[in-house]
This record gives sequence, structure tokens and C-alpha cells, in this order.
Amino acid sequence: MTVRLRAALATLPAYLPGRTVAGAIKLASNETPYPPLPHVVARIAAAAAEVNRYPDNAATALTAALAAKYGVAAEQVAVGCGSVSLCTQLAQAAVDADEEVLYAWRSFEAYPILTAVCGGSSVRVPLRGYVHDLEEMAAHVTGKTRLIFVCNPNNPTGTAVRRAELVAFLRGVPSDVLVALDEAYREFVTDPDVPDGLSLLDEFPNVVVLRTFSKAYGLAGLRVGYAIAGDAAITTALRQTQVPFAVTSVAQQAALASLEPQAEAQLLVRVGEIVAERERVCAQLVAMGYVVPPSQANFVWVPLGEKTSAWGAACEQRKVIVRAFAGAGARVTISSADENDRFLAAAGELAASIPS
Ligand SMILES: *Cc1c(COP(=O)(O)O)cnc(C)c1O
Repeated sequence: MTVRLRAALATLPAYLPGRTVAGAIKLASNETPYPPLPHVVARIAAAAAEVNRYPDNAATALTAALAAKYGVAAEQVAVGCGSVSLCTQLAQAAVDADEEVLYAWRSFEAYPILTAVCGGSSVRVPLRGYVHDLEEMAAHVTGKTRLIFVCNPNNPTGTAVRRAELVAFLRGVPSDVLVALDEAYREFVTDPDVPDGLSLLDEFPNVVVLRTFSKAYGLAGLRVGYAIAGDAAITTALRQTQVPFAVTSVAQQAALASLEPQAEAQLLVRVGEIVAERERVCAQLVAMGYVVPPSQANFVWVPLGEKTSAWGAACEQRKVIVRAFAGAGARVTISSADENDRFLAAAGELAASIPS
């Protein structure tokens, strides 16, 4: 006999991480191209000398630093082993078997997986013109809806919802339904009309904002993210569902070092460089004839429909790894100017074969 596992696992979509290929540049996982700041590396090394001890389970210092940065109470903050873990914990905290998790599609690939793992049902509302269709999402809220993800900017399309439409949506959602604003790419947002989710917490106590150190802060390998909610019942639930000691002491120290004013200033300069490159890459792709929805993140979306897989493979032959979602489009991370040029050269060669 083979071991008996939950039926849900048999139909689970696999999370496909961006591939690393020797000799090729990786533009497939929305990482930053920059190495960690020297002072952060030094703090990581210092923390490494003490890993015979368990970490602070409550991440007290990091929680306090985040609370101070955002002007909220420490009890409104919860840290996690990457914000993906926090997404999972929200589902564990809010969703019982056969209750519903509502999100746009296509959006972050982790949502369907974590929903199925916790026994919930996914309700997916197609994007409209590459953007969340919040009106249609509101129409899909039912008595069984327990958790809604709004990924803003959206992964993988880079598009963002604006303040007026998001506020209108939130006003229509019953106040006992948890809404997670997944703002993993918040630091790259330049449109002032794209709301900072934290500004919505006072009016909407059912909202939780998710952020991460993995993208703009360049600590993807350390796994640390955080949640901020107006209602501390939500962050308490996150603490209850956390795997003990989920955030390592090394990750806590690196995140703390990254929040020091000097470090933040340097990281913001890097974010500015990525944003400038994003605009350059978008403009060049459009000039080549590609359709590229405006991005507010550190990646761009190239909708290529049925040609996506072939285009992704052709990029790979040119030593550029992009993230191809078969039948839909390719997500390409914005990197250093050099790497972006290599991608643009490949895209230029392939432009003749794109669908019109
Ligand atoms: C990258 C990403 C995250 C963050 O993941 P971590 O677990 O913090 O590394 C969360 N949400 C979205 C939409 C992402 O793209």
C-alpha cells in the first residue's frame, strides 16, 4: 500500500520557481540584481556566529522597527518567513474547508496552491485589460468568501489598481471578510494614484497589507516579510498560525540592518535605478512592436498568447531566462542596464515572430 495523502494534493498546481541556468542571465524571479549592502552582509556574518541559539520567536526588535517606520503599534505588525508564508497563514487563519478564497487571475501563482492546501476553494476572476477587474470581483463575493487577495501591483502583469476603484471595492466587501493587499512590489510604485495600502487601514479594519524584504530590499534568500493590519486580531491570528521560529535570527538581523536610515537611502537609490530601467525597457519593447501593459513593479509583462512558450525558449537559447506562462505571456524582471540590454537584444531578434 502507498501512504494515504489528502486528495487535494493530487490536483495541486505546482509552484514553478524561476529557473537558474549556467551561463544565462536570470530575469525570472523578480529578484534585485544588486548584492546585499556591505553593512547588511556584515550583520549577517555577525548573526551567523550565534546560530547555535534559536531566534527570537516574536522577532521583537524587527517588529518594533517596522512599527516605528510606519507609525503603527507593534501589535499591528507580524513578521513571517517571507510574505508567501504570511499569505498561507492568512488562509489557515480565515478559511475553513469549502470556504472561498477570491483573487484575480492571472495573479500570484502561490494563491491557488495555498488555497488548495488549506482545503478552501479558489474563486478566480479574470483580469480585464491586464488589470484587476474589481467590479467583477465584488460581484463574486459570496457568503462563503473568507479571504480576498488583491495583488497590487499585480504579479505577473505589473499593473496596479488606483485609489478610487480600490476604495469603492473595499466599501462593498462585507467587513467580516479578510482582504489581503499583497504589496510585495510597493517600493517600485511611482504613480501617486496607486494607493499605499497602509493609508486604508483606518477605514477598513478587515484589510491587511503584506510587504517583503525579498524584492526591493534584496533579501530573497533569507525569507522575511511582514504584515500590517489596523485590527490586531489579524496580526494575532498570524502569530497563532506561524510555524515556531519561522524567521531565522540571521533574517531578523539582516532586515533590521536594512531598515537603518543609511541603508534605506541606498536601497531607495537602487529602486530608482530599476524604475528608470523599467521605463526604458518598456519603451524599447513597445518600439519593437510588443504589447506591454504599463508596469508599476520591477518586471514587465509581455502577453504573447500561444507563442509564449516558444518565445521563452528562444530567449533561453539567447542565454536570457524569462518566466513564460504557457498560453498567456512572459514576465521579465528588470535588472541592471547590462542585463536589460541583453534581454532587449534577444527580444529585438524575436520581434518579427510576435503575434500581431
Ligand atoms: C515575490 C512575491 C511575494 C514575496 O514573497 P516572499 O515570500 O516574501 O519572498 C509576495 N507576493 C507576491 C505577489 C510576490 O510576487
